Amino acid sequence: MSRQQDEKALLDAVTARLAARRGPTDLRAPGAADVTWRSLLDCHVTRCIETRREAEREQHGHIDLSKYATYQDLSAHPVPEPSDPDTQQEWTLVREDSVRAHHCVCGNGRVPCDRCTGHGELVCEPLRACTGCAGAGSCARCGGSGQRGHHSAAAPARDERETCVKCGAPEAACPACRGAGRVRCTDCDGSGKVACPGCEGEGSVGHKACGGAGRTTTWTEGTIEHRSVKSEVPMPTTQPPVLVRLIASGAGQWRTADCGYGDRLPADLSDTHCAAVERGIVKRPGELARRARLRHLPIARVAVSGEPGLVFYAFPESAGCRVLPLPSARRVALLTAAAIGLAAAVKAVFMLLG
Ligand SMILES: [Zn+2]
Ligand SMILES: [Zn+2]
Ligand SMILES: [Zn+2]
Ligand SMILES: [Zn+2]
Ligand SMILES: [Zn+2]
Repeated sequence: MSRQQDEKALLDAVTARLAARRGPTDLRAPGAADVTWRSLLDCHVTRCIETRREAEREQHGHIDLSKYATYQDLSAHPVPEPSDPDTQQEWTLVREDSVRAHHCVCGNGRVPCDRCTGHGELVCEPLRACTGCAGAGSCARCGGSGQRGHHSAAAPARDERETCVKCGAPEAACPACRGAGRVRCTDCDGSGKVACPGCEGEGSVGHKACGGAGRTTTWTEGTIEHRSVKSEVPMPTTQPPVLVRLIASGAGQWRTADCGYGDRLPADLSDTHCAAVERGIVKRPGELARRARLRHLPIARVAVSGEPGLVFYAFPESAGCRVLPLPSARRVALLTAAAIGLAAAVKAVFMLLG
């Protein structure tokens, strides 16, 4: 199908439509009809784009890089061509002779613990205030001072009291501390020190800078990536009215084409659409494969002389051509003016009656 054939078929369809209203008309006669195109186009482009990049890498401790292929010149490193534009693939490589092992200043991956300054233990009180008597009520006779008579607290029931270790008074002292006012610390069991929670008593912790490995490995990593990138070609032409677009999108016989490298664009595509598609498929940096998927529908807008109130939109459908007569912009303006005039007249009548 060519553009001329489209125009002839669509004009013939409008002619047939008009025949019912006003008899035979030759729309191809000079000045009989004004044909402009309102064709629709969808064009989605898929490309496979290759990128190659290098980066310096560092890893704590030892790392096995033998599973990666090596290269000398990343730009020349061969990888398989993408089988189609949807291909996505990535290769990780190591530059030859770039792998280095570095020893860390820590030596073995451990450094002294900050919290206990490398001792592994923290100082703890060996004795704590007695919770049974809070210290002050430790002995009813000496009050924990060791000198009887200093304290005037009433003596509690006998069976709750023990002999005071300070003043020797029987049945006078708190049973928990036996008059001492303080008890052995349960955290350190009276030893005066506890294991450091920062290093669990080791005195040293893993060195953050080397991840506790005592050494690091550095190398140059190369990455080759094949990525599928999709884009849409913007439609550059004036669109038909919404009603036409809605009907045409369902009923129209859309034409489709897949264009790869070297393929000609469809002959029935308008010059404007051809130019837009050509702009949309320009080769991009790193592009290895490309597909342009086109879907288009020729739509003619036909203004017939002697029919100022109507505009005809015609497009191919499965059985021939569909013709949609729409009120012209002029007719819409006249109708609007008439409606406003009617409203004014009604208002005038009401005013007269009032
Ligand atoms: Zn270290
Ligand atoms: Zn510690
Ligand atoms: Zn006492
Ligand atoms: Zn006590
Ligand atoms: Zn303690």
